[in-house]
Amino acid sequence: MSDFQLNEVDLEQERKEILRAFKGLLRAVKTRSREQTKMIRKAFDVAVEAHKDMRRKSGEPYIYHPIAVARICAEEMGLGTTSVICALLHDTVEDTHITLQDVEDLFGVKTRTIIDGLTKIPEVFDENASIQAENFRKMILTISDDIRVVLIKLADRLHNMRTLDSMKADKQLKIASETKFLYAPLAHRLGLYSVKSELDDLAFKYTDSEVYKQIESSLKSTQDVRNRFIRKFIQPLKEALQFEGYVFDMKVRTKSISSIWKKMQTKEIPFEEVYDLFAIRIIVDTPIELEKSDCWRIYSIVTDFYQPSPERLRDWISTPRANGYESLHTTVMSPQGKWVEVQIRSKRMDEIAERGLAAHYKYKEDKSEDSKFDRWIAEIRELMDNPELSAMDFVNEFKMNLFSDEIYVFTPKGELRVLPTGATILDFAYDIHTDIGDTCIGAKVNMKLVPLSYQLQNGDQIEIITSEKQKPNEDWLRMVASARAKQKIKSSLNEERKAISLDGKEILERKFKQFNIRFIGENLTTLERFYDMPSTGELYFRLAKGKIDLSRLREMENVNGILQIEKKNAQPKDKHELDVYPKINKKEDVLIIGEDFKNIQYRLAKCCNPIPGDLVFGFITTNDGINIHRNNCVNAEHLQSKLAYRCVKSKWKSQKLESHLVSLRLIGIDDVGIVNKITEIISNELNVNMKSISFEANDGLFEGKISVLVYDREHLDQLTQKFELIEGVKRIERWHTEGEEENLDDTVEDVLS
Ligand code: MN
Repeated sequence: MSDFQLNEVDLEQERKEILRAFKGLLRAVKTRSREQTKMIRKAFDVAVEAHKDMRRKSGEPYIYHPIAVARICAEEMGLGTTSVICALLHDTVEDTHITLQDVEDLFGVKTRTIIDGLTKIPEVFDENASIQAENFRKMILTISDDIRVVLIKLADRLHNMRTLDSMKADKQLKIASETKFLYAPLAHRLGLYSVKSELDDLAFKYTDSEVYKQIESSLKSTQDVRNRFIRKFIQPLKEALQFEGYVFDMKVRTKSISSIWKKMQTKEIPFEEVYDLFAIRIIVDTPIELEKSDCWRIYSIVTDFYQPSPERLRDWISTPRANGYESLHTTVMSPQGKWVEVQIRSKRMDEIAERGLAAHYKYKEDKSEDSKFDRWIAEIRELMDNPELSAMDFVNEFKMNLFSDEIYVFTPKGELRVLPTGATILDFAYDIHTDIGDTCIGAKVNMKLVPLSYQLQNGDQIEIITSEKQKPNEDWLRMVASARAKQKIKSSLNEERKAISLDGKEILERKFKQFNIRFIGENLTTLERFYDMPSTGELYFRLAKGKIDLSRLREMENVNGILQIEKKNAQPKDKHELDVYPKINKKEDVLIIGEDFKNIQYRLAKCCNPIPGDLVFGFITTNDGINIHRNNCVNAEHLQSKLAYRCVKSKWKSQKLESHLVSLRLIGIDDVGIVNKITEIISNELNVNMKSISFEANDGLFEGKISVLVYDREHLDQLTQKFELIEGVKRIERWHTEGEEENLDDTVEDVLS
């Protein structure tokens, strides 16, 4: 026999096997008309012909791949004819002589659109990270054309992952990481749980093969014991359910290897201590109107046999999870003293949980395949037509987003960045570059101006606005979610502090010279004590900031260049251990707001945000100490007239280094440069810290809300005066958060009693 003949025989054999695979696919497409069957066959023929000379890395004919992808679509995602046709053709336009026009001529325009979308997403992304991200974005955005593009792409990726063994090691790693990074989260968001966990596991197998193998073998070696246990556990349940006449299916769901690993890591436990390695699932076939009562009846049967743990009962039937998941979960104690999770759900609930979105539509009344999909697509389109919604929002809208710990956002050029959930534009700025972070004054998110503290959402496109004069400040630390940004801010702050302290040192040196005081450690220690500073560094820092009154040096004696604290002028050290309340209840007394009164519990009222320099009064609450209000606070009139006996005269002790948050509203005429002018004043001229800023423009008018940290009233006045000078600014007012009112609940009680 010659080689040639051998090949002939093999090819014949291959043809038969290919046909068998195709028949398997047809069986998987459960509901199809004769017309639809014909179309699927046509797609198969076109694909076979187009790929006829191609083989996969494993050596098998290429056509097995599209057949397998189509089968995943039908069997595991519950997709219909159109998707099956597209899946069969998904690689033809990219890899063969078939053109998009051919596809349209043969299968219609809808199929063309989907294939077009699929062709735009390359199999393996380019080495260049930004191209990768750009493509990912395109992929997400194709949802707007047809969600089936994404679903078929996921099926494609799933099959490639299942057959990744035949790839070269470096390719394996790349594809696996990409799967973990891009595709598994996407499957998750679309509610395709089994696809998601399989992708995760397959990726894990290549990215962390050692651990994977270990857990896999641990699972294997414990399998017999587990199976015996399970058989024993479900036996009585099975009998009871059969006796009650239920049509049901019982499955054992073993936890995926990647989630076992996750659990081992988060709980810091060895494999043996992962108690929920598996769950028993009871799936009851029952009409929708009986679902709830049947599930609870089954629950009652289960708990007749096994004692449930009341804390571990989850009723996601009465209240489905945000992503649409419905199921009844309970954890019961087996006679062997082992906790076992039992999940009870209907067949419908199970399909939706396993297959995601597509399954939802299977249960709508209309039986015809395409109209079901049309409606689905129509709903998606409707959401997409809403210009307020980005592609990712749409997914959220469908409640498919489980709580994810990462968000995906984009640069103006479409480059993808991954940040922790809760990240703000500052995180993003520092993610781009430290300098960008350090000088960030705000950003445009999806073309709209937002403040530094704006929390990023999936799909946001961010353009950072910087100013050379901007500098990081302590408040920034509270605004960021990523470790990277936090660390960068800290190091910038330290550097800045050091530089400022140096200025302070120079100031002090000059002053000492002037007063003939020797610049020596002893004198510095005396000064620290005198001004009550924790360290020399802090002393220098405050000096530079102008927060230390050096004229008070005169209060000290200078003995041959050595400073002496004069007793008579020293700060009284005895603390006010007095019972303060009776004392300040005397109307003549004035509450001095300052450190000396640390023993009196007071806070600055949130309704009017008083700052030093404002005219203020104190209001004695029954259990919250004294609240300091501005005299012109909206609550003032009420408090002063009706509850005068609880009001205390108050004034500020002195200027403090403490800064206070003040919100201002600026109203004026819209002008391109106005935002820059305002932020420049804030950051450059007065060195005030801006906490948040937002601007809105409407028909030529603009309204800006700025929150700044200022030291006192004078400081604030300086700032507002500068604002007034900006061309276009018409009005500036203090503004406070609405809804904050003095809590008067306790007052009523007082009055009555
Ligand atoms: Mn493919």
